[in-house]
Amino acid sequence: MKAILTDTTKCIGCRECVIACKTRYKLDNSIPRRWSAEDGLTARNWTSIIERPDSKYVRKQCRHCIEPACVSACPVNALQKNKDGAVVYDSSKCMGCRYCMMACPYGIPRYDWDRQVPYVRKCILCAEYISDGKQPACTEVCPTEATIFGERDELIAEAHRRIKANPGKYINRVWGEHEVGGSQVLYISDIDLSFLTYGQPLGDKPLPDRTASAMHAVPYAFVGMGSLMAGIGWVIGRRMKNEEGGKDKPEGEENE
Ligand code: SF4
Ligand code: SF4
Ligand code: SF4
Repeated sequence: MKAILTDTTKCIGCRECVIACKTRYKLDNSIPRRWSAEDGLTARNWTSIIERPDSKYVRKQCRHCIEPACVSACPVNALQKNKDGAVVYDSSKCMGCRYCMMACPYGIPRYDWDRQVPYVRKCILCAEYISDGKQPACTEVCPTEATIFGERDELIAEAHRRIKANPGKYINRVWGEHEVGGSQVLYISDIDLSFLTYGQPLGDKPLPDRTASAMHAVPYAFVGMGSLMAGIGWVIGRRMKNEEGGKDKPEGEENE
């Protein structure tokens, strides 16, 4: 299973990773919105660099959870974990309910309000590239190897090796090794990264069981048949648009 390990102690905040992601997926600049979160992630920024005190930099992106809550919350299977473990998105299935955004414990997916037909957008772990044996764009360009790509078990071993070899340098923890069942994006750091979950302790138990049952109950209990039909109409309308020559397809799906 492939993974990314980010060692925040090596990050110099150059944002080459951010630029590489935007270039690979032709993501233009986001229009600043009043309600945008301050972490820098948007529908057009799938990774961001968060600045912390004392010139510490933390790269944020989808964690590609091993048991992703977003996938289990999606009622139409628009989010799926592929054979390499990348959590990918099929815009033709999405009906815009945003349950995935509510379910994600890391607050990752963003809604693309700037489109006539909005989509949910996030890092897709460069799925089509890694299935061809290539690297994610962000890890390929990092000048300090602060963020690296490889086999998950080897990266976990490397993370523990660095912690052990540098007493007092790192917090003795590999973020992503166990939380909510583990993830394919891992971190080691000299600062506490609990701000990435808004200070909420996650525990090691996967979330899908809880999110699936809670989210799937919503449409029938509260939203009602009218909204359900509107949602189905949304899907059909979007598919028809997509079939008109890919004009409305979001970035990252253009070559399907
Ligand atoms: S971090 Fe959030 S969006 Fe990414 S796979 Fe996990 S639950 Fe899904
Ligand atoms: S893995 Fe790919 S899609 Fe995800 S942040 Fe890196 S370059 Fe962007
Ligand atoms: S390219 Fe590497 S050093 Fe530069 S901001 Fe990204 S992770 Fe940090």
